[in-house]
Amino acid sequence: MADLIEEGTGRRRSDNELLDTALRDFYSAADYMHLDEKLVSILSFAERRIDVSVPVEMDDGSVQVFKGYRVQHSTALGPSKGGIRYAMDVTGAECEGLAMLMTWKCSLGGIPYGGGKGGIKCDSTKLSKKERERMTRTYGARIAPIVGRWSDVPAPDMYTGGQEMVWIMDTICKMLGHFEPAILTGKPIGYWGAIGRTEATGRGAATCGLELMKARGLDPSKITATVQGFGNVGSYTAQILQQAGVKIVAISDTTGTYYNPNGINIDKAFEYMNTNPAQRGGKLRGFEKENCEKIPGDEIIGLDADFFFPCALQGVLNKDSAPKLKAKYVVEGANSPTTPEAEEYLTDNGVILVPDFLANSGGVIGSYFEWAQNLQGWSWTEEEYNTRLVDLIKNNFCKVWNYAEENKVTMRRSAYVNAIKRVADVVDMRGLYL
Ligand code: NAD
Repeated sequence: MADLIEEGTGRRRSDNELLDTALRDFYSAADYMHLDEKLVSILSFAERRIDVSVPVEMDDGSVQVFKGYRVQHSTALGPSKGGIRYAMDVTGAECEGLAMLMTWKCSLGGIPYGGGKGGIKCDSTKLSKKERERMTRTYGARIAPIVGRWSDVPAPDMYTGGQEMVWIMDTICKMLGHFEPAILTGKPIGYWGAIGRTEATGRGAATCGLELMKARGLDPSKITATVQGFGNVGSYTAQILQQAGVKIVAISDTTGTYYNPNGINIDKAFEYMNTNPAQRGGKLRGFEKENCEKIPGDEIIGLDADFFFPCALQGVLNKDSAPKLKAKYVVEGANSPTTPEAEEYLTDNGVILVPDFLANSGGVIGSYFEWAQNLQGWSWTEEEYNTRLVDLIKNNFCKVWNYAEENKVTMRRSAYVNAIKRVADVVDMRGLYL
């Protein structure tokens, strides 16, 4: 990875698109808030990054060496927190960019964490379960020196889940010679995981939508919404919105969009998804039988609705699709669903966007709750978990909304300013000595 310093400004650039975008967004917010240049320099670099080799004995007896990374962008507020992903485009620079975004997300979330991220460059779908286990355990052992409940707390991300977390935790516990459940989060519910975590990101996104309705004086029972993506985030977002009285007129997944202007019964969609045996590559296939019309997937953006919840992919609202959007409000359940050009267009046209790192922060807040319970050695009830989650999200939403209103800026700008300020203040207070 080439690390470039821009002539004239002395600021950092990267040839990795994700890191470069994270840096640009940070500098832009820092300039807006007139952040002290010393703090700008400090926060534009990750505190620590390790590159590890991960040799794996394959099932055929050969050895393949994978590249792995773990980055801690900031531990100013507390242990760094962030997922571990398995994907072919994983690089140290990408992890650095993602770790920086985690710093802002945790800070805005009002939780005592900094930002981290890690991963292995691999196509895990081509590995057998045994190969995945050997790779995961070796990676866990190699990052163990910097991981810990008070230093860096990993979690699942793309192509990793509860099984990978248990392998890493088990490996590190055996190295340490004692039990250490708070070393990472995203564990299965029956094994030190937290009840409520599955729904947490969707609950957070739905809560942001409902708070936006409140802030705009809108009655949820008179509001229509479309939800793109019916996976972990989208399905619970739709269900919780519907429970609050919102009419969900369309849902979608890789198989298409399912539309009914009179409202879709989301509980029925859950039931369909969980019982339909013919689900391959898209769980809502055939759902048009249940009293709705099937239209092409990307047409969900142009449907008549007050709110649009993109909860699937990045970049779905771009310069081509943004002019088609009918909704006046967008709540970004997915990461980066709106390109900067699209956001500019939408903002100019009066659309209000709740940015991803506020709208989908229910996930990391929920992980914090799992960690807190592990440290206590005590499980909360589902009600306690949900109440605390909703309270925090409401509080964070309010902070972002109020600043945006008072300063006439977008919610994204407001979210960045709030997030960066909390970290910068602590870095300043703690001082430079390392
Ligand atoms: P998931 O894999 O559970 O679900 C993704 C859904 O999107 C599936 O229903 C899939 O069919 C659908 N989809 C894929 N391509 C589509 C397309 N072209 N049109 C319509 N639907 C499409 O993933 P998830 O966990 O729900 O994550 C969704 C997004 O939210 C991702 O951007 C992820 O990074 C982000 N996110 C997730 C969490 C979390 O806790 N799960 C937390 C923060 C951010």
